[in-house]
Amino acid sequence: MVEKNEFYDVTFVDMTHDGMGICKIDGFTLFVANGLKGETAKIKVTKINENFGFGRMIEVIEKSPYRKEPICDHFAECGGCNLMHMDYQMQLNFKKYRTAETLRRLGKIETKVNETVGMLNPYYYRNKAVIPFGEENGKMIAGLYKSRSHDIIDMKRCYIIPKITTDIVKFLKNVFTELNIPAYNEKIGTGVIRHVVIRNSNYYDDISVTLVTLTPKLPKKDIIIKRLVSRYKRVVSIVHNHNPNTTNVVLGKKSKVIYGEDYIRDEINSVRFKISHRSFYQVNPIQTEEMYTKAIEYAEITPNDIVIDAYCGIGTIGLSVAKYCKTVLGVEIVKQAIVDANENAKENNITNAKFVVGKAEDVIKTWSNYNVDVLFVDPPRKGCDRVFLDTVCEMKIPKLVYVSCNVATLARDLNILQAAGYEVQEVTPFDMFPQTSHIEAVVKIRYKRQD
Ligand code: SAH
Repeated sequence: MVEKNEFYDVTFVDMTHDGMGICKIDGFTLFVANGLKGETAKIKVTKINENFGFGRMIEVIEKSPYRKEPICDHFAECGGCNLMHMDYQMQLNFKKYRTAETLRRLGKIETKVNETVGMLNPYYYRNKAVIPFGEENGKMIAGLYKSRSHDIIDMKRCYIIPKITTDIVKFLKNVFTELNIPAYNEKIGTGVIRHVVIRNSNYYDDISVTLVTLTPKLPKKDIIIKRLVSRYKRVVSIVHNHNPNTTNVVLGKKSKVIYGEDYIRDEINSVRFKISHRSFYQVNPIQTEEMYTKAIEYAEITPNDIVIDAYCGIGTIGLSVAKYCKTVLGVEIVKQAIVDANENAKENNITNAKFVVGKAEDVIKTWSNYNVDVLFVDPPRKGCDRVFLDTVCEMKIPKLVYVSCNVATLARDLNILQAAGYEVQEVTPFDMFPQTSHIEAVVKIRYKRQD
């Protein structure tokens, strides 16, 4: 029998979706962080549930040839990057394997899964950083959450956000400390600074900074602004957001632009975008270009096509295809994102795109009389609403391209589409989030049943 706190020598036979090694002791399954498939290791059992348990890596006995020394000092405790101990090619292979496995197991989908499209330089790619602030031994700290907790690691360096973002975080920490503005204390609900959100443009120099406070006021606001913009000329937008709620949601309802504009500019495949602080925007701009190019290829758009961009955000996919088709219809639940989308259409002289606020599952019904040819769908992690998928199946839209950031809900949704006569023809995983276990996938789907 497996005992808690005992040491065992094990072999990792597989890996979980979030990169933990899976091993068995007398048929009992254990999950161990930092264990790679094929390795043997000494572990200590830390937790035992009814059907499975957890262990801690003590020592790798036989190393995988794919093991890599993580370059980040925070790797062991940080909840951000969980694949940094795999070399990059193995990360890409792992993501392809997970995509194919999940589609087969959860979705009963047998299809062609291509190699994961990786990055030449898989570091410093994230254009948005959400940094929690806190206090430790009377000192202000800021950084990233420890794995599976709300304890903050005081970040020295982060290898997946731009260096200037880390710099700004450290700079603000010093400014707040100097000005005696305390960090939020989540446990007792006191303090001021909760989060700082920093966004960088890839194409332009623009940077925006959102300061989230527990209090309705940002103390010494003018000094903070002056210090920040005189030190970082690239900061073109500062927003103060008030979040008084006991919640994990970062932004509260009330925001105020306290410096510059409420947007940064960026460009994807020669289309210009304005992105305001509340709007969703893909976090890896280099991979986004690659991914949209593949999505457009999978759509096989012709000049007379009517195209829906569902879950459209600021209209990035729709505006990228507008020049190849007759009409684009976009829908998105966040009002400000739709304001951005319509403005972005104007800025790019695109007159054949219309974006509306609403739930995709409601709005698509109002478009059922259009002869829609192509549907791009790019939902959040929870996937598509069932009513949305049923409406798509009723409309028998011939060409579908599904962009997914969660292969589990993708598998579930593709299974529904497949049962209604759609054929999943091809999948390409994209590495939007190198060093982490997140997978992005683009799927080519066609309506096949002629009834
Ligand atoms: N296609 C965009 C955005 C994808 S992210 C891009 O590539 O940038 C998913 C988007 O779906 C988010 O902007 C989110 O606000 C929106 N969303 C979430 N639930 C929705 C719903 N029920 N109906 C419409 N949009 C929704």
